[in-house]
Amino acid sequence: MTSFACDADILIVGAGPAGVAAALMATSLRLRTVVVEAKQVGGKLHTVSTVENVPGGWSTGPQLAQALAADLERLEEDHRCTLLRTHAVAVSGHEDHAELTLDDRRTLTAQAIVVATGVATLTPADASWVTAPDGFASPPLWRTSPDTLTDRTYVLGADRPLGTWLRAYPKAPNTLHVLHPPSDDYKTDEVRDDERIRLVPVSHVTITKPTYGEGWVVEVDSRDGQRTAYAATAVLNNLGAKPAALEGLLQEEDGYCPTDRQHERIRVAGDLRSARYQRIATAQGSGAEAVLACYYATMLQPSGRGAAR
Ligand SMILES: Cc1cc2nc3c(=O)[nH]c(=O)nc-3n(C[C@H](O)[C@H](O)[C@H](O)COP(=O)(O)OP(=O)(O)OC[C@H]3O[C@@H](n4cnc5c(N)ncnc54)[C@H](O)[C@@H]3O)c2cc1C
Repeated sequence: MTSFACDADILIVGAGPAGVAAALMATSLRLRTVVVEAKQVGGKLHTVSTVENVPGGWSTGPQLAQALAADLERLEEDHRCTLLRTHAVAVSGHEDHAELTLDDRRTLTAQAIVVATGVATLTPADASWVTAPDGFASPPLWRTSPDTLTDRTYVLGADRPLGTWLRAYPKAPNTLHVLHPPSDDYKTDEVRDDERIRLVPVSHVTITKPTYGEGWVVEVDSRDGQRTAYAATAVLNNLGAKPAALEGLLQEEDGYCPTDRQHERIRVAGDLRSARYQRIATAQGSGAEAVLACYYATMLQPSGRGAAR
């Protein structure tokens, strides 16, 4: 256990928009703040090609990610925050502190922990409504340029990056056949009026290699029991994501971690809370709010350290 980590007032896990907003709020309260990030400051922002719903006039995710990285660097230079580049695996809440276990089995302690680890990409092997050959890997839709596609492109899932992709390539002429299970129906409203989209409600999809030639055979079971086979030149992954929950968090059946079900020293912020709150601006608001909730619940009490600051 490192001595500075034991002295942290607050540990923030994940430095996406939620985690960085949490760090800004924590340092504004003069809390000794440690941010733990496994990969890149900015998180999913690095994959968002166009943004139009965040304050500040940012038009791409990477621009905003760069600004957030600069915010954290400034806090580090002022010795108000420490950024640890490592992977966290577990959290636990106790009467007078909270603990974070890292993947090298070190334990960091603090008055409270905000977990903002977001979500991880689902693969066809994770989706019970898709059967695909061993080793089948479909490229992510959001990373695919329209120049490489034909009108026989099939997309697995109707997750939100579909709308972002259509906005990023407003002149893309391709037709995308979007195969989606009942659980994705609510996500289709945003794209159903785009003439490049063919929505295909399915109950199951089976993907095989054709006997001759390139591409894939996509067998679609419709919801009324019909089976139809299509020849696809590309099958793209737009299945969505699963919560990147740390061990020790209380999870709902769908794997998400609502903040009000956790120990009072542990708060959840950003995409990890629910499939329905996955936006940059809500992630930022929830990160700041999570820190305030910890501050009032655990640090302003007589034994809390924040009270002395
Ligand atoms: C393709 C795409 C397009 C999108 N378009 C838009 C859009 O136009 N508008 C919009 O508002 N939203 C959009 N979103 C959603 C938006 O990106 C997310 O809502 C937002 O990034 C969530 O922020 P977050 O901080 O909760 O999580 P993330 O951004 O996912 O950040 C989580 C961070 O935690 C780190 N982490 C994860 N696990 C660990 C661990 N165990 N230990 C340490 N660190 C860990 C990750 O490395 C990551 O940096 C889009 C998302 C995608 C994928």
